This record gives sequence, C-alpha cells and structure tokens, in this order.
Amino acid sequence: MEKLKSLERLEEALSRLPGVGKRSAERMAYAMLDFSDEDLAEIGDAIKEIKTNIKRCKVCGMITEEEECSICTDSDRDESLLMIVSYPKDVFTIEKSESFKGKYHILNGEISLGKGMHTEHLNIPSLLERLNKGKVKEIIIATSPTVDGETTALYLAKILESYKINVTRLAYGLQMGGNLDYVDPLTLSKALEGRHKL
Ligand SMILES: [Zn+2]
Repeated sequence: MEKLKSLERLEEALSRLPGVGKRSAERMAYAMLDFSDEDLAEIGDAIKEIKTNIKRCKVCGMITEEEECSICTDSDRDESLLMIVSYPKDVFTIEKSESFKGKYHILNGEISLGKGMHTEHLNIPSLLERLNKGKVKEIIIATSPTVDGETTALYLAKILESYKINVTRLAYGLQMGGNLDYVDPLTLSKALEGRHKL
C-alpha cells in the first residue's frame, strides 16, 4: 500500500531538521495523527512565529524579538571589548561559560568555498560601522577552529589591520575541526584567558 500523500509531506518536512532521520520523522508524523486540533495548531503557530517575530539585532546581528538585542542594550557590559562569532548559537554557548562580559558581533556565517559563502554574505558592514565609532579597543575573533572558521578569522584580521584595535584569537586548546557548541564552559573560559594576538 502506498503512503498517504499528507503523511509523506509531513515526514519529508520533519526530516529536514538536524538529527532527524527518516525513521524518526515517520514516528513523529504518526504521533501527530493522534494530536488534538489545538496541539497541532500550536505547533504550526509556533513554527510560523519564529519567522515573523525573530529578527536580527540592527547593531550586532544577534537573533532578537526587539530592534536591539538584550546584550547590546545592557549598559553593564564592556563595549570596548568585542567578540566576533560566526553564529547566534555561539553567543549562547559563550554566555553559558559566564567568562565574557564584553559585547558581541555575529557574522551569520563563515567564508566557505564549498557552501558558496563569500565575504559579502557576512555581517561585516555593520561591524565596520561599529568600529568607526571608536569605542572598541579589543576584538576577540571566536570563529570555529575549522578550515572555514580559520579562513574567516584571517580575513577579519586583514580588514581590521587598518584600525588601531588589539585583535586576538581564541586560544583553542580545542580540537581543530570542532564546533563551539561542543565546547564545555571550562575549556571555553580557558580559551578566552589564553587568547593570542593575530
Ligand atoms: Zn545586538
């Protein structure tokens, strides 16, 4: 017997999520058949809302539901210290380590020839705009210790050369090829302490 089209469509959609294989997508889809109308509507609404309610902070590029994110508007944080990360999830990881009290800038990507990501796709114009205000004294580049992350870090170091800013890179005692989200808070705060000049 052929699979029903509606079920197939749902399974196909669910299997696009990270970590969801064909089998688990199938299990989820069958489970949803037994959900109440209200529960299904809630799932549908929640999914739609992430696109309508979540935007990028106009200062740093972080995801937020306001015009500016809660870190940019926090006057207790040191605005002379700026950490550049690749993705919003990296901010959550670093915040968990509670070892950084500066501000962030989120590139929303990394230079990757394989994925067709080039410098013009990165959130760099707003970074330069921030730097031109002259308040940033030190920049920590915290792109991931992968080939793409390293390429991005080197590119950033080059364009930052013309600014009188101390540029450092997270000292990864971390494995090359890893991602920031797999790093435990202790390793991360050590990496911060041991950052080196680029
Ligand atoms: Zn922000």
